[in-house]
Amino acid sequence: MTTRLEDNFSKKDRNALAKRGVHSVADLFRFFPRRYLVPGESTRLGELPLGETAIIQAEVIKVGTRRMKQRKGTITEVIVHDGQQSMKIAFFNQHWLDGLLTPGLTVVFGGKVESYRGQLTLSSPVWLNRTEDDHEWTPDDLNSPFPIYPVVKGIAQSRLWNAIKTLLRVAGSEQFDDPLPKGMREQFGLPDLRTAFEDMHRPRRIEDVERARLRWKWEEALALQTEFASRKATYSQLQAPTLLEVGPKSRRFDQSLPFELTASQTAVGEEIAADLAGSAPMHRLLHGDVGSGKTVVALRAMLTAVDSGAQAAMLAPTEVLATQHFHSIERLLGEQMALSPLLAGDDQVTVALMTGSMPARERRELALDLATGNIDIVVGTHALLSESTMFENLGLIVVDEQHRFGVEQREAMRAKGGMNTPHTLVMSATPIPRTVAMTVFADLDVSTLTEMPAGSKNIATHVVPIVDQPTWYARVRQLMDQTAEAGRGVFVVFPRIEPMDVEDPESGSVIGQKQGIEEISQKLRESPELSERRFGLLHGRMSTAEKDRVLADFVSGQIEILVSTTVIEVGVDVPRATMMVIVEAENFGVAQLHQLRGRVGRDGSPATCFLLTELSESNDSYGRLQAVAATLDGFELAEYDLDSRGEGDVLSASQWGGSSLRHLSILRDSHIVAEAKKIAEHIVSVDPELEAVPALRAFIRRVLPADDAHFIEAG
Ligand code: ADP
Ligand code: MG
Repeated sequence: MTTRLEDNFSKKDRNALAKRGVHSVADLFRFFPRRYLVPGESTRLGELPLGETAIIQAEVIKVGTRRMKQRKGTITEVIVHDGQQSMKIAFFNQHWLDGLLTPGLTVVFGGKVESYRGQLTLSSPVWLNRTEDDHEWTPDDLNSPFPIYPVVKGIAQSRLWNAIKTLLRVAGSEQFDDPLPKGMREQFGLPDLRTAFEDMHRPRRIEDVERARLRWKWEEALALQTEFASRKATYSQLQAPTLLEVGPKSRRFDQSLPFELTASQTAVGEEIAADLAGSAPMHRLLHGDVGSGKTVVALRAMLTAVDSGAQAAMLAPTEVLATQHFHSIERLLGEQMALSPLLAGDDQVTVALMTGSMPARERRELALDLATGNIDIVVGTHALLSESTMFENLGLIVVDEQHRFGVEQREAMRAKGGMNTPHTLVMSATPIPRTVAMTVFADLDVSTLTEMPAGSKNIATHVVPIVDQPTWYARVRQLMDQTAEAGRGVFVVFPRIEPMDVEDPESGSVIGQKQGIEEISQKLRESPELSERRFGLLHGRMSTAEKDRVLADFVSGQIEILVSTTVIEVGVDVPRATMMVIVEAENFGVAQLHQLRGRVGRDGSPATCFLLTELSESNDSYGRLQAVAATLDGFELAEYDLDSRGEGDVLSASQWGGSSLRHLSILRDSHIVAEAKKIAEHIVSVDPELEAVPALRAFIRRVLPADDAHFIEAG
């Protein structure tokens, strides 16, 4: 037996393994059992502990399959003998076992001990043909945890297990080059790579598995943090424009702000200013709860750039969002905003919006103005990334919702700084739990707005179960009417545009229909409580011009009740809106609900949010809605969300979507992440190219997608 996959598995088997992500022996070693059967004390047939898991070794005496009388299907009965006693083991609907478990074979069975008609038995146990095995089973083996692998089509568990065990024995030392430095393993009591593989594939005790699992977490944490530390080191080598001027534009802006900055906004502003004044490019994440005032902070940073003679660009993932940012900036700048470069006064700022849908001629003109430095600040979508968009002197990039941009796109944007690398400020629309920031955004410095502008958080949220409490819906409509009557705007948010078939989960056949946005809007219009009201409809399939008109009408009060999809999720600012009714709220995530309700009460007025649901209180997802209703603290909700939704979702919503972190939990392993970060920073500081730790270097490429690991390669 050699240590190549080809020599141990047929082409067909290798294809099946490849489907499981196993392409090499190294992958096979990392193809871990999905669980283990842990044997009880005794393995003698006569002394099996009822109710516990047992592993027995016995000879097959007799096998027979028959149809069952009471139920549909077959039963295969296997009589085994361990030299002293015999036992009957039953398998259901596995008639093929008849040909595999033949009399005379020695087989190891693992399963729970049950009593059937007064006789002890194992119920549908897992089994391993011991006769195929080249390794002599000792009593110790029978007392060891019994590994159960994920199913690989066409490869029996025992063959897989035996191949792995044999390969572990014969593989050369290069298969066990350890990504974890020795000193680190010793410090934290972690097994070396070979031992850890053996712990996983042939553990003596279940503690061995635990010990190895801890190691896999450390490995991933170290890879992640080393990659981040390398990136930071790479950034710090780059040259950025020094932006330290607080000139006339910044001063005029600060003086004309109609409110005081919160202490948190001021503090974060200072962090950013210190970065901008440095010669290495800033890479900073700015996050804070909905309404914490991130836009003002970002705008002040942009004005610093402009005062220093540089341009600033704000990149948004969608056209709606870019437009909203543009309008927010317009509102904040007021008269300080210049409509045309030609007419701009000394302390005025020229701001432009660039989107994909803008007419080609306008876009060409704008491109020219950007290239000649006539525009100070541009807000835009991916259109900004195109090669035809050039800047005279791009000093700062503000990226909104960075996770929707890939590394390559961010690079394309940065490259527009010419000789210099622009500073980058990444804004997250929602708060990011500390553990996530530390794991997922660890290559960024983090600034947090911990405080809300006074008086802006006054939203009462109520869950309304409209099936259990049908009269409450009528009450909600009355309140909508009263709110509109008082001159305030009401949002109705709906999860979809088109009607949708409801399928029976069992049969897949259509058993009903859920209404579309037109129907829901029509029903509300026709309800007696709302007969006096003026409605508007807004969704993503309308043209930009139509959307703009509807929003403008809602802002002015021409529209009183706006029925909308989540196009209003981010950024939409309608100060007069004080009520939001979210229909089928169970269709939205926690963060999304929180984000949505942040759209009301923006002027500091008390606001109300109703979460309408067809669920009843006993449903699990009802708890999510209650969690949203219970707090206005976005950080608390972000933690709750991470906890209840699981991290897969969080990771896949981030730039690490392509990574294959399998063991590290960003929620529970934060102490490992924090320790690994220190070690990684040390490694990179003494050995930036990772020359002394090739195994770690290789492992980073293994765990992180090529796209994201490219900094190291460029290294
Ligand atoms: P975010 O983007 O963090 O959700 P915004 O920047 O859109 O929040 O700010 C929300 C609202 O609060 C805006 O209308 C903004 O003008 C206002 N605002 C920002 N900072 C303050 C402050 N310090 N005091 C009062 N209002 C503020
Ligand atoms: Mg905002």
